[in-house]
Amino acid sequence: MRTKEEYIQGLSKMKRNLYCDGELIDRTDELHKECLDVMGTTFEEAQRPENQELMTAISHLTGERINRFNHIHQNTHDLHMKQDMTRMLCQKVGGCIQRCMGIDATNAVYNVSYEADKQNNGATQYHENFKKWLTRFQTEDLVGCCAQTDVKGDRLLRPADQPNPGAYVYIKERLKDGIVVSGCKVHISEASVADEVLVVPTRALREQDKDYAVAFAIPGDWDGLKQVVTIHNLRKRDHFPRGFMPGSTDSYMIFDDCFVPWERVFLAGEYQHGGVLALLFALFHRHSYSGCKPAIGDVVLGTAALAAEMNNIHKQSHVREKLAEIILVTELGYAAGYTASDLGKPEVYMPGVGFIPYGPGSYIPHSIYCNVGRCLSGEAVWREAEILCDISGGVAATFPHEKEFVNPETKDLLLKYTKRNENVPAEDQAQFWRFLGDTLCSATGGIHNIGSYHGGGSPIMEQIAITTQYDIEARKKLVRYISGMSGGDRDVLSPSKK
Ligand SMILES: Cc1cc2nc3c(=O)[nH]c(=O)nc-3n(C[C@H](O)[C@H](O)[C@H](O)COP(=O)(O)OP(=O)(O)OC[C@H]3O[C@@H](n4cnc5c(N)ncnc54)[C@H](O)[C@@H]3O)c2cc1C
Repeated sequence: MRTKEEYIQGLSKMKRNLYCDGELIDRTDELHKECLDVMGTTFEEAQRPENQELMTAISHLTGERINRFNHIHQNTHDLHMKQDMTRMLCQKVGGCIQRCMGIDATNAVYNVSYEADKQNNGATQYHENFKKWLTRFQTEDLVGCCAQTDVKGDRLLRPADQPNPGAYVYIKERLKDGIVVSGCKVHISEASVADEVLVVPTRALREQDKDYAVAFAIPGDWDGLKQVVTIHNLRKRDHFPRGFMPGSTDSYMIFDDCFVPWERVFLAGEYQHGGVLALLFALFHRHSYSGCKPAIGDVVLGTAALAAEMNNIHKQSHVREKLAEIILVTELGYAAGYTASDLGKPEVYMPGVGFIPYGPGSYIPHSIYCNVGRCLSGEAVWREAEILCDISGGVAATFPHEKEFVNPETKDLLLKYTKRNENVPAEDQAQFWRFLGDTLCSATGGIHNIGSYHGGGSPIMEQIAITTQYDIEARKKLVRYISGMSGGDRDVLSPSKK
């Protein structure tokens, strides 16, 4: 497994294809420092002996110990560990750990490439190609990101019906030695600090959309790929540093007649499998949210409790109610993910059919619980911001900048007038309000809320998944029985009937 320094060294050798603020930048540009510190945490923590169980696993391909972010889930324990690892790491960086897209995409492609080959009766070698790619990915401890979301153009038009054929990434040409792809994927987190980019489809596809059923992996600096990057850094601190300073990044990934050799292609035209791949990545990613969102809940809860303490209102009943609300969502989101892990199987849900065996035997979390957890906790982000705003008052919005706290003309006066709770040192109170400003009033704070709401799929996508997969008809039969209507069935939901 690599160290943080080895990871950064690897990035320093990559070609320049990152466009940021009108310039071409290196991956090791100063602007990326905080992003590299976040990603670096996934390397540092994996080296600690006490984290071995949580953060590492034995590769089923090589028998070697690898970083868990590069592992294919072999049992329910792996699913539990992935959820708990995600929660622990997100706690340590105070937000998104950035590396989950890789583990979620590799697990999805691993299963779908197998099923596509099976249906093609040996005419394709997607799965073998993927396993070769994965072996290198695991052995070299690479960082992967997932490029799923297309620009999509007119939301009501399917891919093949769009006036712009590149509204969804598509196969423009099929050559003897590979394919040529065009199009653009957007909002792709950590792509500018990833070694490899995994590309998967966004949505269910029809036969006429078959050129959009494409999955492949390329290095982040591959020829024909341009990344237009937004880097989200907090206000720089010169005098009062935070305990941990996080950064994050998202890319528009433009595939401009980009050639991909067959050994890096894991799906090319199998439209039914393209749709399943889109859903399966989303499913694994929603499971990741059951780790990261509870960690964000941990940070929000600590922040709300401290804000109440600063204002000396922490014993007031309305504060207790709000803290309880944060705990309810946090732990229900975690519990949903825990159940999804515990009920995980090598199976997927097929609409109209139910759960069926799927893939070569790796474990897939239960879809109802992944979707329920992500939807509940994703939608709660704005309410949680509202609670922080409510308990804190207006202080986060107008708190004086740090230089005023080192200027001898204002420093003591400000410490005197910003102090609220006599039992907390004035310097700590000021440091807390700076942190709250980062959370509530910065561009980064806003971006994180939108990411928490839409990342992994907007709430409507989870609602569609839940209502199409949940057996509502069975519940109707139960109520028909209880109410005395015809066609009722009192045993319809009994465990023996399932
Ligand atoms: C910070 C951040 C990080 C992200 N990271 C990644 C990443 O790493 N990789 C990745 O692939 N994606 C990533 N995403 C993308 C995320 O998954 C999408 O934002 C999400 O799936 C919603 O897609 P969209 O943004 O295109 O919104 P849209 O789909 O345009 O949604 C806007 C509205 O239109 C509605 N709508 C859309 N289509 C239809 C339709 N056909 N019929 C009716 N209503 C419709 C939606 O319900 C919603 O209300 C990230 C997003 C954010 C904000």
